[in-house]
This record gives sequence, structure tokens and C-alpha cells, in this order.
Amino acid sequence: MAPAGYRGRFAPTPSGPLHFGSLVAALGSWLDARARGGAWLLRIEDVDTPRVLPGAADAILRALEAHGLTWDGLPLWQSRRGEAYRAALDDLRRDRLLYGCACSRKDIAARARRGVDGPVYPGTCRARGLRGALAWRLRVPQQRVLFPDRLLGQVGCDVARECGDFVLRRADGIHTYQLAVVVDDAAQGITHVVRGADLLVSTPRQI
Ligand code: GLU
Repeated sequence: MAPAGYRGRFAPTPSGPLHFGSLVAALGSWLDARARGGAWLLRIEDVDTPRVLPGAADAILRALEAHGLTWDGLPLWQSRRGEAYRAALDDLRRDRLLYGCACSRKDIAARARRGVDGPVYPGTCRARGLRGALAWRLRVPQQRVLFPDRLLGQVGCDVARECGDFVLRRADGIHTYQLAVVVDDAAQGITHVVRGADLLVSTPRQI
């Protein structure tokens, strides 16, 4: 169901305590949501379990509370969302938008040119029809993604050219940030994303 009003969120990765940059991002998105009478939701992005530091999520929650940044409802924990991510991958697979990839980082580094956020996957496995315990990549369409940013105005990106097909599930079975963030922003009914400028390069992929 489409949400009636503004719904913002803060989505920290508990790989360490809340650092100053994250606190600024949290404050910005909290102020934006509250100034519009909107909801502000919290999501703990602990999907990449090897990166999670024990105790960091609790420390982040306490730091937010200590700064008066109160959230609505219960935090959503990505480590408990495996079923939703698997269902999203099944949908994409059914629509032939996913393919298995057996390339190592080294294979890719040897053939790829650099894009806006690291090497652009050269499409080596795109037509190989591989099966098994592989990484799963999204088949990115050749089209320009445009979105409005309140600071920068209209931002555009040709994801196929500037990022290439990107991984949604790693060979070790971990769902990636790029998948989880989209499934969860949809599930939480998020209408506005206010976050660090370092994530601007991710937005076109997520759209
Ligand atoms: N978990 C990400 C981070 O801490 C932020 C995700 C997002 O805001 O989309 O960098």
C-alpha cells in the first residue's frame, strides 16, 4: 500500500560506533522527516555479517537516543530479512534479470575499466548460463537513470556504462547492500532518502 505521508529512514551499518559523519546524516534525515510531520524509521544494516562488530548496533541505538533522535516503530534488522531478499531474487530470476557469475576479483580487475564506483563489470559471464554456488548479478539495462536530488538538482547516470552488471548475492550466500536496501526501503514504505553524499553513486543502481 502506498504510504500516505513522508517516511524517512536512517540505516546505519553496525560495523563500529556511530561516527560523526553518520550522526550528521542521521540528524539531517531526522530533521527533514520531523519538519514535514513525517515518520522516521530505523534500519540496522547488518546484512554483511562478517563486517558486523558485536555490540555496535546497541551502541548506535543508544547514541541516537542520547542525541534525541527518536525513531518510529521498531528497528528493522537486515540479518532477519533473508526470506524477503531470497523472494526478491526469485522474482528477478523469473524475469531473467539475474545471471550467475564465476569471476574472481582478479579476473575482473584484469579486464575491467574503472567506473564511478570501482571496476565496471565487463559482462564476462552474461551469456554463459552458469549454475551453482555463484555470485548473482543484475543484468543492467542500457538506459539513463534520472532522479531529483534536492541539493544537486537532476542527477543522471547510465548504470550499464558507469557501473555495469552488479552483484546482488555473493558467492558466499550473503545478500549485498544494493539488494537489501531496495527491498527494505520498499518494505518500510520509504518516500524520501536523506543520506551521506558518498551514497549518491549508489542511488542510480538502486532505482
Ligand atoms: N548502511 C549504509 C551505511 O551505513 C547506509 C545505507 C543508506 O543510507 O542507504 O553507509
